[in-house]
Amino acid sequence: MWKDKLIKSCKQQSQTVNQSFINFIFPPFCPICESELKHTERFICEDCYSHIKTIESHFCRKCGAPLEEKRKTCKYCKGITFHFSKVRALGTFSTPLIEMIHLLKYERKTLIGNRLGILLGNLFLSDPELLLTDMILPVPLHRTRIRERGYNQSTLLAKMVSSISGKDLCLDAVVRTKATKSQSKLDHEERLINLEDAFRVVLPEIIKNKTVVVVDDVLTTGTTLDEITKTLLNSGAQSVYGLILARAISV
Ligand SMILES: [Zn+2]
Ligand SMILES: [Zn+2]
Repeated sequence: MWKDKLIKSCKQQSQTVNQSFINFIFPPFCPICESELKHTERFICEDCYSHIKTIESHFCRKCGAPLEEKRKTCKYCKGITFHFSKVRALGTFSTPLIEMIHLLKYERKTLIGNRLGILLGNLFLSDPELLLTDMILPVPLHRTRIRERGYNQSTLLAKMVSSISGKDLCLDAVVRTKATKSQSKLDHEERLINLEDAFRVVLPEIIKNKTVVVVDDVLTTGTTLDEITKTLLNSGAQSVYGLILARAISV
């Protein structure tokens, strides 16, 4: 009898430990809206994904920012000559996309990258111009940043876009040669200096005469995308597009 009790107690304890472990890996509440997750949901509930403020109809032809009325470009892009052809952004840099990107970049919640990558992949499929491009290239991180973070969030997104679109994934052609400072607290001029010669094409034959879609998480002033675009064009790429999770308007 006592043996049965002991076995039952051990089983219960082991189930509790297993459950705590599962809860640690997959917390039972959505960290954004705090609602209880369904067993099919991982980290973030589907309701939160459905509340992303997507940019669908009117957007700037150049930088992907939402536009209220039917114009081709936004006021910001009128004063700047970007070298990329066009940007498509999934949504605005607002709740809940801000929180999702934070969890993806700084809290190691890489599964969010897969889920957001699916949304980016579907955006790619909906855009006739992007469908005509040749390859998908994530914005590379410097090796020291990769070592700290353990992964490149843009690569997670790009892999998903590549598998959904069937386009080649380009991971080795471009490297980041400078461990640049975070762009978020720099003004436009400082960003340009910070990013000068930050990228280098190491395998130009891969991108030669190709139309390349560069994938990144956030686009604010566009300096990072423009810098990598210039590097790609100088090495023989035909044209460069941006596919971004969130368009942040800071200007
Ligand atoms: Zn939620
Ligand atoms: Zn614009």
